Amino acid sequence: MYQAFLVDIDGVLTRGSSALPGAVDALRVIQTQGRVVLLTNNSTRSQREVAQYLSLLTLDVAAEDVLPTSTLAARYLRERAGATMVWVVGEAGLRDELIIAGHELADRPDRAEWLVVGMDRRLDYEKLRLALQALLGGARLLATNEDATYPTGGGLVPGAGAVVGALRGMGYAPEAVVGKPSRLAFEVALAQLALPAERVLMIGDRLDTDIVGARAAGLDSALVLSGVSAAGDLARTHVRPTWVAASLADLCAGRAQRCAGDDGRLSG
Ligand SMILES: [Mg+2]
Repeated sequence: MYQAFLVDIDGVLTRGSSALPGAVDALRVIQTQGRVVLLTNNSTRSQREVAQYLSLLTLDVAAEDVLPTSTLAARYLRERAGATMVWVVGEAGLRDELIIAGHELADRPDRAEWLVVGMDRRLDYEKLRLALQALLGGARLLATNEDATYPTGGGLVPGAGAVVGALRGMGYAPEAVVGKPSRLAFEVALAQLALPAERVLMIGDRLDTDIVGARAAGLDSALVLSGVSAAGDLARTHVRPTWVAASLADLCAGRAQRCAGDDGRLSG
């Protein structure tokens, strides 16, 4: 049996600002079966803000068991580079986590040692100009994630990939990307759980981040079809989760199918 679960948020527990049907009860069920850490590529909120937001939806998880890419990026930078001077293209949650981790926000872009980039719903030409000044001044580039899109109640909107893509368009590629499918995200989460990959199940709604990343890090994975990836996407790719279920509620109720073509270990 799995001893812990890494659970994505958007498309698994929530859609837009609502809990998905059955998700509240399903989360409680899996919390009785093992430790649950929420691993989300969202960079706009801090760890604490994500936990507070989820508690309003009666999805209750301790703040330290929530790992958004705002937290992952700040910790990664602290581990690799110590306390640094940063310039940020992103939202308040990312700034907050960088400060909590001991970094300092530069007052001018050319003073930054690192440019940290995440989803920014107020991105404009001036922000790109300032980011370029940081890069021309020698700042190294760290990205929270590169999700192409982001699901909301009103459909898909541009994700952090659109912001990172604007920098790529200026000729700058990130030195590291901390969010799924990057191994870095799974390393931090497994370290927090203090468990080997074989004992942990990743539950997510995206083949290209949750499932690809889990496989690369050696975790079994469950794709739930309540978010971005649909059954048709599974038919068009050779990426194979260990399990497929319509939703987290179905997965918890035992209504999951072992994925045809999966060559992973047997679980249980
Ligand atoms: Mg998701």
